Amino acid sequence: MSDVDSGPLRAPKPKAGTCIKCKTRPSTVVLRHVQYCKDCFLFATTGKFRSAFGKSAISNTTGHKAMVAFSGGPSSRALLHLMKGFQHVGSHQSGQKRLFDELVICHIDETAAFNGSSTLDMARVVVDTEYPDFTFHGQLIEDIYEDEALSSIDKKEKLRQLFAQAGSLTAKEDLLWHIKMHLLVKAAQKLGCTRLILGDSATRIAIKVISFTAKGRGYSLPLEIGGDIHGLYPNLVILRPLKDMLAKEIAIYDHSQGLLNSLVPATNFSTMAPPTASIDRATEEFIVGLDRDFPSTVSTIVRTASKLKLASSMNGQSRCALCHMPIQSGSKDWKQRITVQSTQCTRDSAPGTLTVPENILCYACQTDLSESEGWSRLADDASPSTQLEEFRSLGYPTLLTQDDMHQRIKDFLLDD
Ligand SMILES: [Zn+2]
Ligand SMILES: [Zn+2]
Repeated sequence: MSDVDSGPLRAPKPKAGTCIKCKTRPSTVVLRHVQYCKDCFLFATTGKFRSAFGKSAISNTTGHKAMVAFSGGPSSRALLHLMKGFQHVGSHQSGQKRLFDELVICHIDETAAFNGSSTLDMARVVVDTEYPDFTFHGQLIEDIYEDEALSSIDKKEKLRQLFAQAGSLTAKEDLLWHIKMHLLVKAAQKLGCTRLILGDSATRIAIKVISFTAKGRGYSLPLEIGGDIHGLYPNLVILRPLKDMLAKEIAIYDHSQGLLNSLVPATNFSTMAPPTASIDRATEEFIVGLDRDFPSTVSTIVRTASKLKLASSMNGQSRCALCHMPIQSGSKDWKQRITVQSTQCTRDSAPGTLTVPENILCYACQTDLSESEGWSRLADDASPSTQLEEFRSLGYPTLLTQDDMHQRIKDFLLDD
């Protein structure tokens, strides 16, 4: 009972090379300076995954169809494997047929944006051969234009033009992420899924906390990193059950379970790019480097960020047309106060740089778009519906519904 007994100095220290949990088997894994044998490591990892589901308010999974986002990278590969075990144990322990009614695995083939070779078949083979109980859903990134009467080639070309005009690497990476979220949400809703399960690890979340703050996404940060997000999209809850697992832990899990030879190779804008090429790349380099020497870096950032609460001013009504996150009002005034927008010699040569349509875009998306060609066409004095049309004509996808739209233009409508 005494504090002294439970203190770390008095606990019997395992011999070097022995697992800290079972204290019998030789250790094969070192994580945060602690040694585990393979069995105890897998037991701890699986337990952490299940408790993430247990902690979420969605303890009742029956009656729900879930979509798992599967890029084929180390995190989502582990996620798929953990979901399989979770479904199985759930059915064994509770006597139910299965945990979720159905699991749809969604892979988005992003290669049209990079001229790479398709990843769709590789992802399909992994799911069909190893997880035949799951339903595979493949989606091409150019399908973001599926509502438009365009040929497959034209859709690809339109997508490439959109990325070509997007300006910096940071803006391109943000745009790619928004398009992928659009496609996942649209596919989940179309297929009747009420849960969308993402493979964000603790390391990924720590990187997001820092990079999103740097990009001016602090207002909606709790929605971007939370383990259990309701209300962001109609009838769809976002879950992040890997949020307590380090990228290293996930890599060891993949290795221990023999999953490394069935990863789908990733291509993205920053492959081969130097660490300073974008905010995401610079942050990743910083966090991963720091965590190597100070193993509590990631968990400290994640724990601290998880205490963030949504602003009381957030009403959920006004959403960004690009990222679908809530728009913080007054960002335009704030930006004008802190920004040097013109000098005597550039004032006449740079018309349009003051134009910030905060009616339809959040602060961070305004910043991304301010580097893109065509930006000055989005006139601030136009009505939100006109701005939205302009925005779409630039090739940007939006997830706005009729209700969202009505909310934007209600000040321009006469009462019945
Ligand atoms: Zn052990
Ligand atoms: Zn936005």
